[in-house]
Amino acid sequence: MTGASQLLTLRGSGARRGDSLSNLGLIKDGALLVRDGLIAGVGTRAEVEKLPEARGAEKIDLGGRVALPGFVDSHTHLVHAASRAEEYELKIAGASYEEIARKGGGILNSVKKLRAATSEALKKRALAALQQFAAHGTTTVEAKSGYGLDVASELKILRLHKELAAEQPLEIVSTFLGAHVVPEEYRKKANGTEQYIKLIEQNLLPEIGEKLAEFCDVFCDRGAFTVEQSKRVLQAGRQWGLEPRMHAEQLSRTGAARLALLMRAASCDHLDQLNKSDIAALGKSETVATLLPGCNFHLGLKQYAPARALIDAGAIVSLATDYNPGTSPTLSMPMILSLACAQLRMTPAEAIAAATINAAHALRREKSVGSLEVGKQADIAVFEVADYREIPYYFGVSHCWMTVKRGRVIHAAEQAAI
Ligand SMILES: [Zn+2]
Repeated sequence: MTGASQLLTLRGSGARRGDSLSNLGLIKDGALLVRDGLIAGVGTRAEVEKLPEARGAEKIDLGGRVALPGFVDSHTHLVHAASRAEEYELKIAGASYEEIARKGGGILNSVKKLRAATSEALKKRALAALQQFAAHGTTTVEAKSGYGLDVASELKILRLHKELAAEQPLEIVSTFLGAHVVPEEYRKKANGTEQYIKLIEQNLLPEIGEKLAEFCDVFCDRGAFTVEQSKRVLQAGRQWGLEPRMHAEQLSRTGAARLALLMRAASCDHLDQLNKSDIAALGKSETVATLLPGCNFHLGLKQYAPARALIDAGAIVSLATDYNPGTSPTLSMPMILSLACAQLRMTPAEAIAAATINAAHALRREKSVGSLEVGKQADIAVFEVADYREIPYYFGVSHCWMTVKRGRVIHAAEQAAI
């Protein structure tokens, strides 16, 4: 691949913190050599063309466009049965997320629909979504269960993650989110939450182990699980080989982020309600702070996560779509970059680093994806722009021209068809 006006390599070691979040490792007139799905050379056009292996290689001319690592979307609820468009109007009329949940909407609404859906129907919907992820420049997608909330339905989702990973080109990172909310049938019982956690510990986790998921997530918040309950679930998950990650401090400050640090979670996500000492603690931690501005946008909230304070404190800030039918129905990482710039006051460079290399750290995939360096997977997004700042600048449309996963073109705009 040659002729990139700007090639954003994101090269360098370690996760990006503070000032280094702006360092894109930009090469003007850049080129890449790809072999067997991996990057075999990276540099200026002149440097790469000089490599002996470049001779005879098939050439793709990027025509002065911008190339960067494929986006790593580290937080999605990929598998779900249907949209919740019917709740959208209630939200616009002023009902809060929690009020909608109390009326039988929210997550439990999606649970009802998912339990009734066949695997085939769920798969068809997920496959269509994955094609859209690719069309927006995303090459790695984390996917959470959590709309099943009984043994058969949670396993149905996690098995689908595995099938999808094997049958289509995007990389799927599977997360078990049995502790999303307490399901309806347990809410009516005295001690229902306790009984449901026991189901997770005794019936679900032994079936899942490392075969069906890499991570165990918990929604630790008002109306979901307490810090103590979350800790139990994450510890149980770890015993079965699943690394912790968390939904934390979205609706209220519960101390969830502190638990994430204590558990050495890979990532804690949302973080709208952090206080100053939480921010300072995240600044010193290896746990990635993943921000999900699509959620605040869709819910029409005025308050967003304190991105600038987190960056200044030295936290490893990452961005994700939180693709889900209730609070963030988007799979467009470019749109998330636009929101990060306008609402989180991140610069375009910071937002791109957050959605690539730092997001790779959030999924423990930093050795294989998230930057364009020799030996890493050839996961590449090419945008129909001449300057990377135009990626978030043009909001609401996708300028993704080509997406490559492990060296294979998996999306090409019509005019790019090769
Ligand atoms: Zn989520």
